[in-house]
Amino acid sequence: MQVTETTPNESKTAQRTCVACRAVVDRSSLVRLVEGPDGAIAVDAKPSLGGRGAWVHPTKSCIETAAKRHAAERSLKVEPRAVDAKAIVAQARESFARRARGLLSSAFRSRQIAVGMDAVAQCSSDGRAALILVAEDAGDNTRSRAQSLAVGTISLRAFGSREALGALFNRGEVAIAAVEEPRVSAELVLTIDRYAGLEG
Ligand SMILES: [Zn+2]
Repeated sequence: MQVTETTPNESKTAQRTCVACRAVVDRSSLVRLVEGPDGAIAVDAKPSLGGRGAWVHPTKSCIETAAKRHAAERSLKVEPRAVDAKAIVAQARESFARRARGLLSSAFRSRQIAVGMDAVAQCSSDGRAALILVAEDAGDNTRSRAQSLAVGTISLRAFGSREALGALFNRGEVAIAAVEEPRVSAELVLTIDRYAGLEG
């Protein structure tokens, strides 16, 4: 059964069908497509709002399949049109980047983040680190130290530039940081993996 309607009060664990591969999954693992004001099929920037939406896996293959088959338009009950899969991929990627930045800055505000090599090493040896984050443009030394600190259950991911991480954590540049809260870390790993999966 295909479900395309949403209401703001719906359970967050509601299931939705990917319009491309037809898998029925938790809607949090899909992105919502809408008909934009300009008539283009686009990622919904505010998925909490109601109205008609079409859901798709945030993968290049499902987005491209949906575009080719006009599956989103069918689900949205609008006329088939040229759908720009590349633009949708870029929008989905930016939405995951935004989400990751939001998680990081709120973790920083609640002091759940160790910033800089010394703090990360301490946090890791104390057993408090759940995720070690290195900047995408971090140097080789930082990368290899991060790798040696991310042992056991500690995840390791690359995200953002040193400058971008610095802006999130009120520093000039940040090459490495560690997230302590396990739930936030798990969500960050998922979000960063989805972001990275949509690269280029
Ligand atoms: Zn799919």
